[in-house]
Amino acid sequence: QFHTIKYEDLKWDESLGQGSFTRIFKGEKTDYRDGEKHTTEVLLKELDPDHKNCWESFFEAASFMSQISHKHLLHVYGVSVHGDKNIMVQEFVKHGALDLYLKREKSLSVSWKLNVAKQLACVLNFLEEQSIIHGNICAKNLLLVREEDPSQGISPFIKLSDPGINVAMLGKDVIMHRIPWIAPESLAAPDNLTHECDKWSFGATVWEIFNNGNPPLQALNSKEKFYENKQQLPPSQWTELADLIGQCMSYDLAFRPSCRSIIRQLNSLVTSGNNVIFRLAQDDH
Ligand code: ATP
Ligand code: MG
Repeated sequence: QFHTIKYEDLKWDESLGQGSFTRIFKGEKTDYRDGEKHTTEVLLKELDPDHKNCWESFFEAASFMSQISHKHLLHVYGVSVHGDKNIMVQEFVKHGALDLYLKREKSLSVSWKLNVAKQLACVLNFLEEQSIIHGNICAKNLLLVREEDPSQGISPFIKLSDPGINVAMLGKDVIMHRIPWIAPESLAAPDNLTHECDKWSFGATVWEIFNNGNPPLQALNSKEKFYENKQQLPPSQWTELADLIGQCMSYDLAFRPSCRSIIRQLNSLVTSGNNVIFRLAQDDH
């Protein structure tokens, strides 16, 4: 179901670190079209050989990412297999992961953050329409393709990355690290991901974006207790935004909003200076 890329056509450059069970490199991919040689910058994600039993899940992620296309979804070129190496070849995104960017650029405006949250809602809605559950939405898995340039009227632009190994394959320790992005019901049933799980993760990610990429609950030593006690993240100073995050991160799945409602609520939020204000959309009158 996916394009395979010859290992010989890949060039490996510098390491960009590690993910969950992966090693990440910048690289190049060579294609020959009409006898001409083309090279493309790529991101190479190699499955850690210690976890090669997860290859099916890893390729499943590559497969769905390469089968659908949306402006806010990262492009996956294909996979490459060489000996016991399993590699996902994807679009290289210049400004990297959003969590790091948010931490680095401390003075991003609220309009920047709201804009990015709307882009994430847009791709969330698209995935739901396609009946695809992502399962690993967080700021780390959002990549910044384009920076804002207000003087040129250019807005930031993000893409959602692949989910990686399915949570059902992850050990308890890894799952605990995913609190509060992972939906609480997934702790008991990691093999039963639903669209509602993605809604919870969306809420946690929006929280993260508005808190400059500071991981929620960093200081907590028992994250599990947080869910056991049905606690909530500290609410945003803007009521309507806090309300939306609260709905998404509702312990009762039935209270999590539809994508339509998420988009409608986000569209009713506008910014004024460095404040988020609520304004009823025209068609709600
Ligand atoms: P997980 O499945 O948990 O998301 P992963 O294997 O996807 O794990 P990440 O932790 O998401 O790994 O990514 C590690 C780092 O690699 C990111 O912080 C980012 O800096 C970089 N990175 C990942 N994908 C890309 C990409 N497509 N373009 C540029 N940089 C990337
Ligand atoms: Mg990732």
